[in-house]
Amino acid sequence: MSIFHKLPPSSLVEISPSQIATAQVCMRKLAYYRARVKPLATPINLLFGVCLHWAVEGYLKGFLSKDEIAERFIEKLTKERNGKLVSMSKTKTFEVMEAIGGRLCSQFPAYYDNLGVKPVLIEGAFKMNLGDQVVMNLVIDFVGVLTRPVFGEDGQQLADVGDTVIIDWKTAAMPEGALFARAGFQLTYYWLAVTLACEKLGIKPPKLCGFAAGLKPNIRTEGSKSLQSATWLPIHWVDRTESDVLEAVDFAKVVARRIRNAEYHRAPHMAWNSPCDSNTGRCDFNGVCLEGTLEDLVLTGPSAGLTLAELV
Ligand code: SF4
Repeated sequence: MSIFHKLPPSSLVEISPSQIATAQVCMRKLAYYRARVKPLATPINLLFGVCLHWAVEGYLKGFLSKDEIAERFIEKLTKERNGKLVSMSKTKTFEVMEAIGGRLCSQFPAYYDNLGVKPVLIEGAFKMNLGDQVVMNLVIDFVGVLTRPVFGEDGQQLADVGDTVIIDWKTAAMPEGALFARAGFQLTYYWLAVTLACEKLGIKPPKLCGFAAGLKPNIRTEGSKSLQSATWLPIHWVDRTESDVLEAVDFAKVVARRIRNAEYHRAPHMAWNSPCDSNTGRCDFNGVCLEGTLEDLVLTGPSAGLTLAELV
């Protein structure tokens, strides 16, 4: 038994945008992820992102008022971390994370009002048949209709009242690059899903998409002046062309083919940008993949009961 066994050539492969992003980094990492090999400790950044998403969703769905969103975020973060082994970031304490998240949450209602969008779907789950036995599962944070026009930096009108837009709420240590917003596959899959479902939803095909990013500054104490830079960034609005969509679908099929063929090669890349261990982080599977140890990992699902020899 191995997690690296081949699958029949016509087997159905279910995949998600985050698995596609992992496949772009390292296929071996994708193998561990799909086999549900998990780190024992939950990263604080993951908990933070989950709680912020929860607070934003609660506000948009009307469960949380604008006066309580920050406080409820902090309560949620406390609840989520209790009884869990949490791996902290190099510099930020829980108190710093609470201060950053609380600030982002209290700013969110005004930021959202300013976007000029009316929600159609909040956390909408899709299952999309891409053909060739490949199915993509995705959850789109926000699909909405514009209540006022959108203009680009040069003053050119990009979209009008009534046009459909797709937004992904993100927390980020730095603003995303223009190419990431314009070409990242995640938004392209969302674009395709909304295009296919727009008639049923009673909206126009998507006109713009973008990431709404809450910036997490690199601060060490909650009293730091730089806490002020914990703020929501303006959305860098972009679109997708038909060829963007074709490329993204094609890539999902390439990944599915590699999964069926068990092509899970390790991809340490180059010394200065290795995903295995770098200044910005260490791969969750570094221990099993490179050091030959299962310490700090839990084996669940298909990997439960496997030995080290079966995982390398
Ligand atoms: S340690 Fe490196 S090669 Fe191994 S799974 Fe992680 S990124 Fe891939």
